[in-house]
Amino acid sequence: MTDMSYLDGNMLDGPLRELFAVDLSSATGRCDHCGRVGPMAGLQVYSHAPGLVGRCPACTEVMLRLVRAPDRAWFDLRGTTFLQVPMPLDQPHPGPL
Ligand SMILES: [Zn+2]
Repeated sequence: MTDMSYLDGNMLDGPLRELFAVDLSSATGRCDHCGRVGPMAGLQVYSHAPGLVGRCPACTEVMLRLVRAPDRAWFDLRGTTFLQVPMPLDQPHPGPL
């Protein structure tokens, strides 16, 4: 890949907040390519495309794509094996009905 400048993954906080009620920048993700596990805030974010592209800081493979249109958004996590999202203790997950 070319040597383009990138933004820190912390800049994803605002755009992702529009989609999710949780702060995904504090989430931990696993790169599907190299297996690195680390904070999503540590991604290298490229904004030179129609959307935002988050790349693994270890292997530079794409882990996240986010495209925002006036009335919708596309969020693509191909390249991320999992996201581990910290949750507040006072909101237990629903049990069986
Ligand atoms: Zn990787």
